[in-house]
Amino acid sequence: MSLVSVIVPCYNEEEVLPIFYGELTRVAKSMKEDFEVIFVDDGSSDKTLTLIKGFAKTDNRVKYISFSRNFGKEAAMYAGLEKSLGDFVCLMDADLQDPPSLLPEMVKALEEEGYDSVATRRVTRKGEPKLRTFFANNFYRVMNGVSDARMMSGARDYRLMNRKFVNALLSLSEKERFTKGMFGWIGFKTKWIDFDNVERAAGKTKWSFTKLFDYAMGGIVAFSSVPLKLITYFGICLSAVGFISLITSIILRLCGIYVSGWLFVLEAVGLMLGVQNILFGFYGVYLENIYTEVKNRPIYIIGETNTGDMIDNDK
Ligand code: UDP
Ligand code: MG
Repeated sequence: MSLVSVIVPCYNEEEVLPIFYGELTRVAKSMKEDFEVIFVDDGSSDKTLTLIKGFAKTDNRVKYISFSRNFGKEAAMYAGLEKSLGDFVCLMDADLQDPPSLLPEMVKALEEEGYDSVATRRVTRKGEPKLRTFFANNFYRVMNGVSDARMMSGARDYRLMNRKFVNALLSLSEKERFTKGMFGWIGFKTKWIDFDNVERAAGKTKWSFTKLFDYAMGGIVAFSSVPLKLITYFGICLSAVGFISLITSIILRLCGIYVSGWLFVLEAVGLMLGVQNILFGFYGVYLENIYTEVKNRPIYIIGETNTGDMIDNDK
C-alpha cells in the first residue's frame, strides 16, 4: 500500500491546529493509503509544538520537526521534504486554506492517471485584501514575462508529488529557496486542480506586506536575470541619446547656430553615464554566470530512462 506524507509548516497556529488535525484525520480515514503527517514547527512562540506533541502521543502517524527559531515557510517545507518517506508527498498549510478534502482526487491523479504531481490554484481571491490581489496578479505577470519558471496565477504551494518529483525538487540545493518557481522549473507532468478561495479557518495570516514583497523580489531574483540585463539596455539607450544629441549640437555649432555650453556638458555627461552603465551590464553577465554556478542546480532532470539510474536526481 502506498504511503502519503503530508508536510504541514506551522508558525503560531495554536488556534487552527486542532481543527486542521481533525479535518485531515477525517479525510485520511476515508482513504485506503497509509499516512504520515510531518508537522514542521517553524519556531512558534505559542502552544503549537505542545499541541503537535499531543497529537503524536495518540497517533503514531504524526511526526514533528521543531526549529530553534523562525526560519520561514520555505525552510519548513524543505525540512519536511527532506524527512518525508512517502511514495507521495503533499505540502499543505495548517490553516485549512488548502482543503484536505482534495486529497483523494489528488492521489488518484498520481496513482491512476500517470501524473507526477498535482498542483492546486485558487481561481477566486474572495476575502483577500484588494491591494494584495492586485500585487499578486501583477507579480505572476512579471514573473512569467522575465523568467523560465512558468507560474500559474493563484497557484498555491499545496501540491501532491511522487517520489521522483520530490527528489528532483531536493536536487535543487540552493539555500535561498523559492519553491513556487521550482515546481515549474523541474518540469514533469502536472495536473492542475482549481478551487475557490477558502478563508483561514482561525488565527491570522503570517505574511505582512513587506514580507510578501521580499518574497516576490526573491522569486524574481532566483529565476530571472532580466533585472541585470536592464542595466545594459538602459546604458545603450542613454549613450545613444547622448551621442546623437552631442553630434547634432556639434554640427549646429559648426553651421554657426548657437548651442549653449551647458547643453554640451549635459550631453557629454549622458554619454559617459550611458557607457558606464553598459560596462556595469558586463559585470552583470559575469555575476549571472557566477550566480548560476553557485546555485548549483542540476544541469538536467531525467523524467525516464532505461540506463539503470536516474543520475542526478536519484539521491
Ligand atoms: N508559515 C510558516 N513560517 C512562517 C510563516 C508561515 O511555517 O514564517 C506557515 C503558516 O503556519 C501556514 C503557512 O505557512 O501554515 C501559510 O501561512 P499563512 O496562512 O500565514 O499565509 P497566507 O495563507 O496568508 O499566504
Ligand atoms: Mg493561509
